[in-house]
Amino acid sequence: MSDAESPPDDDVPSVPDDEIPAGDEFEPVQVFPDSDLDLREGADDCYKCSTCDTNCPVAEVDDDFPGPKFQGPEQWRLKRKDDEDIDASIMDCSNCMRCDTACPSDVPLSQMHNEARGEYVDEQMDTWSVEYWRNRVLANYRISAWFASKMPRLANAVMSNSLVRQVGEKLFGVTAEREFPAFAEQTFREWWAERGGPKVQSEDKRVAYFHGCYSNYNTPEVAKAMVRTFEHFSYQIAVPDQGCSGTPMFANGMLDDARRDAELNIKEFSQLVEEGYDVICSCTSCSMALRQEYPELFSFEGTAKVSASTYEAVEYLRIHEDLGSAISDAEVEFPDLAYHAPCHARSQGLDRQAVELFRDLDGVKIEDVGESCSGISGTYGWKSEKYEKSMAIGEEMFEHMDEAEGETGMTECPTCAMQMEHGSGYEIRHPLEVLEAALVSR
Ligand code: SF4
Ligand code: SF4
Repeated sequence: MSDAESPPDDDVPSVPDDEIPAGDEFEPVQVFPDSDLDLREGADDCYKCSTCDTNCPVAEVDDDFPGPKFQGPEQWRLKRKDDEDIDASIMDCSNCMRCDTACPSDVPLSQMHNEARGEYVDEQMDTWSVEYWRNRVLANYRISAWFASKMPRLANAVMSNSLVRQVGEKLFGVTAEREFPAFAEQTFREWWAERGGPKVQSEDKRVAYFHGCYSNYNTPEVAKAMVRTFEHFSYQIAVPDQGCSGTPMFANGMLDDARRDAELNIKEFSQLVEEGYDVICSCTSCSMALRQEYPELFSFEGTAKVSASTYEAVEYLRIHEDLGSAISDAEVEFPDLAYHAPCHARSQGLDRQAVELFRDLDGVKIEDVGESCSGISGTYGWKSEKYEKSMAIGEEMFEHMDEAEGETGMTECPTCAMQMEHGSGYEIRHPLEVLEAALVSR
């Protein structure tokens, strides 16, 4: 927590008494006149039960972190009362969004955190500081990945050099403990263009694929598995121009960067939704961004339409196809899998779907490694000052992976996959790769 503030007591009045007119003439007070968003209702819905605090993985390992109740409704009450500065501890929230899911009163906690973080970065953070630029580069991973993809072998050699990692830690605060993910020699989009786009045409089964940065630059095998699996079910696939989903930008308070990419994404995808496409994502944080964070933070034309038409890829197939029957006769040879449900999959109610789908598939043994957070939360665990915290949060997952049979992990989130690999040494696969193996003969 910053030295400026300690958590306030719980008795801050929701509206100062002298501002409430008597009788029938009550009018709501305009608290945030310059903002499109007014989160007063959400703040008032909080009845201080502290369920969010007990579900916060950062608060569990860091006694100095004041927790989501303070970061959300209490900060907003302070803003209302005295227009207080945002507490610097907002940068210690990892944006895992577990507090959203935990709150019994539907307080929009992560929206409050995103707004508070954006305000903190814009108004209180030193934009000449190493921390600001470190965070900005991490948040804009897509730009670095684009450059690296032009010379992937050289980039991989440089990034895996231990001296380079040590320098990165000393000068920029990016932990040297982790190995950088390798860049693919051919990006997904290059592969897509080389094969000539979609192989299936359909009037009524159409999906627009939001592949995100990681499936494009680092794990195109996941994106290819998505394409082959959906074409197996006769879907016509579109792969429009797209930016980052914004997830790492929200988590670092870089809302202008997120707005820039969201505008492009909404423009491209809303046009396809108009043409009858649904939007699918292979990363659960990307689907979370398009579904929940875009409408919470932006008001571009088409935002609500894209949000309502977005699905995680396996979720979409479970809704629209008889996936259980399709794989019931399949037999695959896959190593035993230790499955971790990402926090953002949990927020979308998708935490059991891989286990439910694959537990009866011949040749696959899948075990859920429990409910804990992996701890990396995108760029969070890459910051040198957050590394130990990130590993402490992940400890429970590592232990369960260790206890599970087999030495292969599975998850839908690329950064959870990094953490699983880092903490266990296991190879990590995506559910779409199992589906492809079960359904598609190449
Ligand atoms: S769980 Fe919801 S209602 Fe309870 S303290 Fe947190 S924000 Fe308030
Ligand atoms: S988003 Fe996660 S880390 Fe941040 S306050 Fe909520 S539970 Fe804690």
